[in-house]
Amino acid sequence: MSEPKSELGSRREVFDEPKVELHVHLDGAVRAQTIIDVARRRGIRLAADTAEELRRLLVLREPATLTGFLAKFAVYMHVIAGDRDAIERIAYEFVEDKAKQGVIYAEVRYSPHLLANADVEPIPWNQEEGDLSPDEVVRLVNRGLRDGERAFSVKVRSILCCMRHMPSWSADVVELCKKYRHEGVLAIDLAGDESLDCQAYPGHARAYQEAARCGIRRTVHAGEVGPPSVVKEAVEVLKAERVGHGYRTLEDPQLYAQLLATNMHFEVCPISSKLTGACDADFSKHPVVRLRKDKANYSLNTDDPLIFDSTLQLDYSVACQHMGFTRQEFRRLNICSAASSFLPEPEKNELLHQLYRAYGMIQSTAF
Ligand code: ZN
Repeated sequence: MSEPKSELGSRREVFDEPKVELHVHLDGAVRAQTIIDVARRRGIRLAADTAEELRRLLVLREPATLTGFLAKFAVYMHVIAGDRDAIERIAYEFVEDKAKQGVIYAEVRYSPHLLANADVEPIPWNQEEGDLSPDEVVRLVNRGLRDGERAFSVKVRSILCCMRHMPSWSADVVELCKKYRHEGVLAIDLAGDESLDCQAYPGHARAYQEAARCGIRRTVHAGEVGPPSVVKEAVEVLKAERVGHGYRTLEDPQLYAQLLATNMHFEVCPISSKLTGACDADFSKHPVVRLRKDKANYSLNTDDPLIFDSTLQLDYSVACQHMGFTRQEFRRLNICSAASSFLPEPEKNELLHQLYRAYGMIQSTAF
């Protein structure tokens, strides 16, 4: 099966109407050229001198393992982490890139700790300790996103990630969500190795409890590679309101039926799930085909476009070419995405209106 190429503009867009994206990592959406520029400015040696060479090192072309995927971040995260200008720049450029892809609303996520080099233990990426705290990382990202929103007329809000292997960071993460909830931070996420369940790491459950108590919205990476029990734990223990990926839910028919009945939102990332080895490499067997058939509530997302050399259009193009998606389904899933966004109700309704208008539909709340 030949893959569509991802060079921007090299292929016709399969869905050229406004889109909503809910699952994309800021640190997995950095431009290769930006990494090269920042490394040069900071005098950091990289194994590549040009953006093209760097992409050759970073991009996953064939299905990999989780370890192979995570190793990609170690190639460049030390360049961005701890650098104020770089962090603000990647947030700003993220908004510009989403505007080019026809996205009118995005929720972008990141771990403030993985971008910091002070007030964080241990210092990530084997960096020297510096003076950039997770708290300041959030302020820098907020500023970059806000400037990007003004420049490119895209609405972007953020989600702060806890990391499964670092439960000691989670209390901080929820406090940062609370502190910056009026500056665009809407929700908490849990990312990383799903084999590390929350029973063994109660720090995550405590942070999610606090989030629920304070009205901080909640999503969890679950059932991407981990078994359905991880999804169950996300919903029952962490009170997740959306599930990141969630593909393996389908292996537990009772759980799947329950999530369908409660209209749980699945953040589906087709290209990502092939290249991380989470799903069958044959897109026609992807779990989203079943979700579509069952009229489930789900979105299509890029996850980590730098590592997959992808754009949102490419994910749509895969869904169209290999899974038979139609314009009608693309519209339906974008309306589901807007309705499942973590925006406050008035803003969510405004976003829904924008979509209904763009899709030429009569306003309706029944979908
Ligand atoms: Zn993800």
